[in-house]
Amino acid sequence: MRIVVCVKQIIDPELPASQFRIDAESKRQRANGHPLVISPYDENALEVALTLKEKTGGTVAVVSAGEPSAISALRKGLAMGADEAALISDPALDGSDAFGLAAALARGIQKLGTPDLVLCGCESGDWADRTVGPILAEALNIPCVSFVAQVEAQDGRLRMRRVVEEGYEIWEGAPPLLLTILSHESNVPRYPKVKDIMTASRRSIPTWSAADLGVEAGDIGKAAMRTEVQQLTLPSRESRCELLDGEPAQQVATLITKLRERKAI
Ligand SMILES: Cc1cc2nc3c(=O)[nH]c(=O)nc-3n(C[C@H](O)[C@H](O)[C@H](O)COP(=O)(O)OP(=O)(O)OC[C@H]3O[C@@H](n4cnc5c(N)ncnc54)[C@H](O)[C@@H]3O)c2cc1C
Repeated sequence: MRIVVCVKQIIDPELPASQFRIDAESKRQRANGHPLVISPYDENALEVALTLKEKTGGTVAVVSAGEPSAISALRKGLAMGADEAALISDPALDGSDAFGLAAALARGIQKLGTPDLVLCGCESGDWADRTVGPILAEALNIPCVSFVAQVEAQDGRLRMRRVVEEGYEIWEGAPPLLLTILSHESNVPRYPKVKDIMTASRRSIPTWSAADLGVEAGDIGKAAMRTEVQQLTLPSRESRCELLDGEPAQQVATLITKLRERKAI
């Protein structure tokens, strides 16, 4: 099976909230030299792909669209066990929404060869739009199953456990398919070995521009924008501290009254 995993590089979501900064003009998070990582669910998706490859054979490729820095996310994918990687990077992508990104990713995936399975995270760790996967499936003209926690290959078909509000559903389908992957005990990302990190650091990874992929200027960037971020603000935080007078028993009584007034108890 030929599997392609879409990986997005994001600013480490473990960053303390106090260091989170917004660029008012671009309405995006400021990188500020913070550590960059693979979006968490994308690592789960890569683990699913590598496990399927180990059981059924085939190849795994990782593809990312973004800044040249995303090469390091792709190298981690290679170190974990992917066979191939490609970066789509072009200033023409600036201003892209999920439709623009999906148009570029679809062309990149097709350039890697016709896939049997495309895996995305169920949502990115920064914007969490949950849109790229389904829109990409549409662009590739293949069915999409979202919020998949477990995947098994059986006789050329895939059996998927899909999480829904009331529990889970079991789906079956034949490739080609696009799945969006949730974290699950069966897809905890493996740690790459030092030897594989070293090997991956020496691999050359192609960087494709929009022109390399034959993407039309009107399909990406601002020209293709169908959704727009109107406003991006940090939540305002208020903290007030009130010291209670009196003996401990009186303080407790006052505290209970105040909590009741605020309907906290
Ligand atoms: C080059 C670039 C320029 C951008 N410019 C702007 C801008 O000007 N204004 C603005 O508001 N937003 C911009 N964005 C952000 C973009 O609009 C959002 O990333 C997009 O709407 C998708 O939302 P999401 O990241 O929440 O993805 P989701 O839909 O939550 O992502 C789901 C999954 O899709 C896959 N995926 C998502 N993004 C990528 C990627 N880049 N590469 C590979 N796989 C991916 C991953 O598997 C991910 O887990 C830009 C993004 C990029 C990469």
